[in-house]
Amino acid sequence: MPETMLAICKAKPEPGLEVREVPRPLVGPEDVLVYVEAASLCGTDLHIWKWDAWSQRHIHPPLTLGHEFCGTIVGVGEKVQHTAVGDYVSAESHVTCGMCYQCRTGQAHMCPNTQIIGVDRDGAFAPYVAVPEKVIWKCDRSKLPPQIATLQEPFGNAVFATMNQDLAGQSVAVLGCGPIGLFTIGIARAVGAKAVFATDIHPHRLDLASMMGATEVFNVAGRDDTVGRIVEANGGYGVDVVLEMSGAPSAITTGFRVVRNGGTVVLFGIPAKPVEIDVAENMIFKNLTVRALNGRRIFDTWYKTRWLLEGGVIDLKPLITKTIDFDEINDAMEMLSRGDACKIVLLPNGGKPPDIPEQHRARTPNPNITGSPVHR
Ligand SMILES: [Zn+2]
Ligand SMILES: [Zn+2]
Repeated sequence: MPETMLAICKAKPEPGLEVREVPRPLVGPEDVLVYVEAASLCGTDLHIWKWDAWSQRHIHPPLTLGHEFCGTIVGVGEKVQHTAVGDYVSAESHVTCGMCYQCRTGQAHMCPNTQIIGVDRDGAFAPYVAVPEKVIWKCDRSKLPPQIATLQEPFGNAVFATMNQDLAGQSVAVLGCGPIGLFTIGIARAVGAKAVFATDIHPHRLDLASMMGATEVFNVAGRDDTVGRIVEANGGYGVDVVLEMSGAPSAITTGFRVVRNGGTVVLFGIPAKPVEIDVAENMIFKNLTVRALNGRRIFDTWYKTRWLLEGGVIDLKPLITKTIDFDEINDAMEMLSRGDACKIVLLPNGGKPPDIPEQHRARTPNPNITGSPVHR
């Protein structure tokens, strides 16, 4: 195993990303070393690539990006107990403290001490990533190839937002068909929504929305009659549940207008700026339930994701626009920023599984690797 590796980094506080040589990560006593087989690009990476106001506040270069990934464990620290070399895994990207009020009351997704992999600590846009064993999620390789297994992390966000309310037999509007909106459509249908109306401004995303099970799609580019069109499609009534996944102020306004009296609006898309809403007309007089959600319930959403993806209920293959190599990263980011791609998946080791000699597939940790580069 080499001592250094190439990784996709935010090397300096400026726009863009660099492929540079970095040391292979050290493995602490409670960590595992994952040989990365696939890592997917996300909107968060796009913010960091652009070096927008949010990234300038939160990111401290040099940093290796990448928080959505899967691969194989090739080294474990001395205190690791539940995983072993050879395990095929993905990981929860939020490393939480386990001791704060939120962590101790089952709300770890709101832990104020969270460290996000690829945001607050080095991530998986590299051949190897070291993460604490407690965030590891074991997967079934026969059911989830690497390109799909890496999507479990963002998919969990959609599971959280969508399954937070009972959608069986309900009419649902999904506003915004980026990856999370598209996941949402599949999940809403899987749990029994009777109709799913999807909106976006990109025709190719609306095609994907239909593929994921949307009953009707609406291109809202340059139009101000979206509420009327959805109400008409829903038999003259407002919809039972709105899932706002875009963060666009116009979509948020549409959401509050198109929901029926007594319905539910879930706000999940993140607006860049404060948004004005008519609270009296569109919330109070409608007796609405409004849920503002962020993140995913750890690890509840992972179990539901296992059912939906490993169980073959939802097929995410159509949502993978392309797989890329390291040198294509900046082009891929351009593509994402134009809205021309859904999920782009990086293959840091050329998409090949690791070659682990049988004698190293131990069920017991190897104390020799603690705190130092892993040998196998
Ligand atoms: Zn992400
Ligand atoms: Zn905590």
